[in-house]
Amino acid sequence: MANKEELAKLITVEAGKVLRESRGEVDYGASFISWNAEEAKRIEGEVLSSLVPGRRTLLVSQPVGVAALVTPWNFPVAMITRKAGPALAAGCAVVVKPSEETPFSALAIAELAHEAGIPPGVFNVVTSSRDSTPSVGTTLASSDLVRKLSFTGSTTVGKLLMAQCASTVKKVSLELGGNAPLLIFNSADIDQAVAGAMASKFRNTGQTCICTNRILVQRGVHDEFVEKLVSAVSKLVQGNPFDESSQQGPLINEAAAQKVENHVNDAVEKGAELLVGGARAEELGSLFFRPSVAVGVSGEMRVTCEETFGPLAAVMTFDDEEEGITMANATPFGLAGYFYSGDPGQIWRVSEALETGMVGVNETMITSENTIFGGMKQSGLGKEGGRYGLREYLETKFVCMGGI
Ligand code: NAD
Repeated sequence: MANKEELAKLITVEAGKVLRESRGEVDYGASFISWNAEEAKRIEGEVLSSLVPGRRTLLVSQPVGVAALVTPWNFPVAMITRKAGPALAAGCAVVVKPSEETPFSALAIAELAHEAGIPPGVFNVVTSSRDSTPSVGTTLASSDLVRKLSFTGSTTVGKLLMAQCASTVKKVSLELGGNAPLLIFNSADIDQAVAGAMASKFRNTGQTCICTNRILVQRGVHDEFVEKLVSAVSKLVQGNPFDESSQQGPLINEAAAQKVENHVNDAVEKGAELLVGGARAEELGSLFFRPSVAVGVSGEMRVTCEETFGPLAAVMTFDDEEEGITMANATPFGLAGYFYSGDPGQIWRVSEALETGMVGVNETMITSENTIFGGMKQSGLGKEGGRYGLREYLETKFVCMGGI
C-alpha cells in the first residue's frame, strides 16, 4: 500500500485503465494479501474419532507444492494477488506467468514481495512474448515440479491448459470468461438498476470478466430504463486515462477494438438499433470506442452469444419471470448474474434459478476478499477468494496411527 500510487500508474500505463480505477485495483489487490496473511493462522487439521480400538485418525493440511499462476491483463495486479495470497498462505512457492500485455505490474509485485521479506525463489515471475507464450504455458502445465495450475483468462486457453495438465494429473483451477446477464424486473427501482448497469457494464471500459454482457429488461419498464441508461451513458467522460476526470479509457489492443466493432455491426445488421455510440472515438485514438447502447438485441446476435469485453450495452426484452430466467441461462457460461427486483419472493426464486457462480441482487459491485469468486458451467473450475480459495492450495492428508 505504501507504493499504491506507483503501482496504480503502472497499471494505467500498461493496461490503459483509468487512474482512479487503477488505484481501486491496488486496494482490491492488497486486500487478498492481508486477508490471506490473517487466514494463514487458521489453517487447521482434524482429529477424527477412531472406529477401531488402538488407532488414531488425523486429517492434516499441507501445501500442494509449487503453484503456477497464469493471469490476464485486465486486472494485472489483483489477479496475481488473488492467487498468490492464498498460495503463499498455504505454504506454496509460486511461478507467476502474467499476460504479455502487462508484465511490468507482475515484476513490480515480485520486487515488492522480495522487499517485504519473502525469500528468494518463493515468488517467481516468468514473462513471455506473444510467440513464446504457448511454449511457456506448456512447460508449466506439463512439468512434474508444478503441482497446481491456477489460470484466469479466456475459456479457450483455459481448456487448452487443462488438457495439458492431464499428463501430470496436477490440480487445476480455472477462472474463465463469462456472459453475465443483468435482469431488470417490473418491480425494480429503475434509478438503482441504471446505476448498477452503468457500474457493471462500463467499469474498466467494459473489460471485466463479470461485466454485464446482456441487459434483459421486462417489457413494462423497458422504455423508462432505456431512456435513463442512454442519458447516463451519454454523460460518460472518455479520455486520457491519466486525467482524473476520465471514466473511460482505451481498449487493450486492436483485436479488442475490432471485436467490439464487429459485435456492433453484427447486431445492427441483424436488426438491433443503436441509440448512442457505435464507433471508435478516433479523435482520442484508435483504441477508444464510444460508450454504446443497442436495443432490440436478440439471441442469435454475436453480442448475446460471446463476451463483448468492451463498452457496448446490449438490451433485450422479456415478458415474464420464466422467460427472463430462460434467456439469462441460455449460455454455456455461468460466471456472474445480476438482477433488480423489489419483490421478495421473486428475489429468492431468481437467485436460486440463475446458473451462475455469483449472483448480485439489487447490486452489481459484489466482489470482496472474504468471499468466493468463481463460475459454473464453462466459466470455471474451483473457487478463488475467502477460505474456499485457500483450500485450493492445500492437500488434506489422512494419517492413521496404529498400535496405540
Ligand atoms: P487469455 O486467455 O488470452 O490470456 C490469459 C493468460 O493466458 C495470459 O497470461 C496469456 O499470456 C496466457 N496464454 C494465452 N495463450 C496461452 C497458451 N496458448 N498457453 C498458455 N498460456 C497462454 O485472456 P486475456 O485476454 O488475458 O483476458 C481476458 C479473458 O480473461 C476474458 O475472457 C475474461 O473473461 C477472462 N477473465 C476471467 C476472470 C475470472 O476470474 N473468471 C478474471 C479476469 C479475466
